[in-house]
Amino acid sequence: MERGLLETYVRDYIQLQQTPEVLFTWHGGEPMLRPLTFYKQAVRYQQYYGRGRQISNSIQTNGTLLTPEWCQFLHDEGWLVGLSIDGTKEMHDAYRVDAKGEGTWQRVVDAIHMLQDYGVEWNAMATVNHANVSQPLAFYTFFRDELHCQFLQLSPVVERIRHHSDGRHLAQLFDENCAIAPYSVKPAEWGKFLCDIFDEWVRHDVGEMFVNVFDATLAGWMGVAPGICVYAEECGHAVVMEHNGDVYSCDHFVFPQYRLGNILTDGLPQMVYGEKQTAFSRLKKDSLPRQCRECEWLKACHGECPRLRFLHTADGEPGLNYLCAGYKIFFQHVAPYMDFMRNELLAGRPASGVMTAFV
Ligand code: SF4
Ligand code: SF4
Repeated sequence: MERGLLETYVRDYIQLQQTPEVLFTWHGGEPMLRPLTFYKQAVRYQQYYGRGRQISNSIQTNGTLLTPEWCQFLHDEGWLVGLSIDGTKEMHDAYRVDAKGEGTWQRVVDAIHMLQDYGVEWNAMATVNHANVSQPLAFYTFFRDELHCQFLQLSPVVERIRHHSDGRHLAQLFDENCAIAPYSVKPAEWGKFLCDIFDEWVRHDVGEMFVNVFDATLAGWMGVAPGICVYAEECGHAVVMEHNGDVYSCDHFVFPQYRLGNILTDGLPQMVYGEKQTAFSRLKKDSLPRQCRECEWLKACHGECPRLRFLHTADGEPGLNYLCAGYKIFFQHVAPYMDFMRNELLAGRPASGVMTAFV
């Protein structure tokens, strides 16, 4: 990214935000491939164009390029680090390997310890895939007991294969008859995985450890917006900009038909509030099949991410989420606990009372 492009992005992005606080999220590929000087320059632009507004930054990384110099910067600037790690060594190294084919787990764990030594705030971003979905307790306790992780973000891996002439091999939403990639989770596996770690969390860790799916589910029960787009009623508030200034509707939709324009020629506000992105935002709600609209768990699920809505319902309507069966297992299982926590919160008491209420 050229310096002029960086400056335009920081300036326009700050001007676009209507809240007092402005949050920048840096991710890739691997954002630490950019030299630290790039981010120091970004901070200077943020200070200049922020004109006293509160600016926050988070960076999502695999941690393998982290250095003491990076840690000092992250600590001094108060950046939040999202570290990609998929569980124990065996789980993580099943798919996360470097260019030589060697597992990266040890380097990621070393990076976490370095962040902890420098007092940098971090959270774990874990994909749930074929290699770890069958070991939910070993997975969860690794994060809690060995990494002392307080914030765990789970992301189920579901990909479909479609070979394109330009070398890409992943299917887009509207591609049909595609094979599910073998490293993906199956719906029932995902549901059972969530139930098993929920059972551990709800008895021991409420208020101490934060798991994004559980937080979002409780938000749905409370009727408030969840912290993650996939469980929200509408989405599309987090457009993504590529290194050349091209802007797309969402990180998962970096395809030509979802390109909104280029920040140097089309203007960020025009793209973010334009017709195309508004239509994208509405799609999440407007394209729900009747099965979802009438579902008892709609308040917490909202059909999950449109990216995964490639199934047909029992009566043949398109647009059902691939993970639906798993979510039904999960929501059914957690409903009594969610009811209890909602009532506690409404009564002005902490949700952590749930830990002793069901013994
Ligand atoms: S398409 Fe999915 S990932 Fe993208 S903003 Fe919507 S819910 Fe989020
Ligand atoms: S659980 Fe299934 S039917 Fe219900 S809202 Fe979610 S995807 Fe739709």
